[in-house]
Amino acid sequence: MITFSQSMLQTYSRCPQQYRLRYLLRQPWPAPEREPALEYERQRKNGERFHRLAQQALIGLPPATLEHHAAALGEPLLTWWHAFRRAHAPLLAAAGSPALRAEYAISSPLGENRLLAKLDLLHIHPQGWTIYDWKTEARLPTRAALGSRWQTRVYMALAVRTSGLAPEQIRLKYWYATHPAATLEFAYTKTAYERDWATIQRLAAEISAARDFPRTSDERLCAWCNYRSYCNRGQQAGDWQQAPEDLPEEPLDELDFEQIAEIAF
Ligand code: SF4
Repeated sequence: MITFSQSMLQTYSRCPQQYRLRYLLRQPWPAPEREPALEYERQRKNGERFHRLAQQALIGLPPATLEHHAAALGEPLLTWWHAFRRAHAPLLAAAGSPALRAEYAISSPLGENRLLAKLDLLHIHPQGWTIYDWKTEARLPTRAALGSRWQTRVYMALAVRTSGLAPEQIRLKYWYATHPAATLEFAYTKTAYERDWATIQRLAAEISAARDFPRTSDERLCAWCNYRSYCNRGQQAGDWQQAPEDLPEEPLDELDFEQIAEIAF
């Protein structure tokens, strides 16, 4: 049985060979994924710290403590933190409520496999479920690019499967700390849900049965892949600020899926 995540589906869609190296062979990543490597690493660390601050705020840690902590972390964390507080004041006023579930895992059977996602925040309210996802990527993607990411399709379809709600009761909001005025919100429909779930099932079945894992034919992606040296696809890492729009940043942390039980509602 395989426990799929949105990043596994995204990786396989991008390059089956990258999926094999990363998830089947668990090969260590031999080259910096993007350049300048130090700046990219700093960006990722800041993203992790920001997510931790947001989680602590939503579970109800005292705002003064978090303010102090954010100030100690310096920029850009402090600016992101203040923007987060302004943009999510109604949610933060309900911090600690059981209706707010921060860093929350949901999962569902997927044929003989499972599909699992860890949400930055799930807000359960009388009208349905709203999923929040915080981003710290420097660049704001277009709505079309964000809507077509596996993350969007997996989160919304999985929310329908897990909640038993109608697709129209599910919403997904992306909020960018780097562009705090722009919340990109997605509504869902029965048609979109049926299309997404069928696509997810098809891709999971294809991956489960795969014996060959070809290299991507889109060689521009190799510049942002750590496995370039395995594949003889160049030495030079791509600049993370120049990454193609359809190449989302890697998730901040991979879940240890085997450790997470399914969540029943
Ligand atoms: S270097 Fe290119 S072909 Fe090789 S795993 Fe990475 S994306 Fe795929």
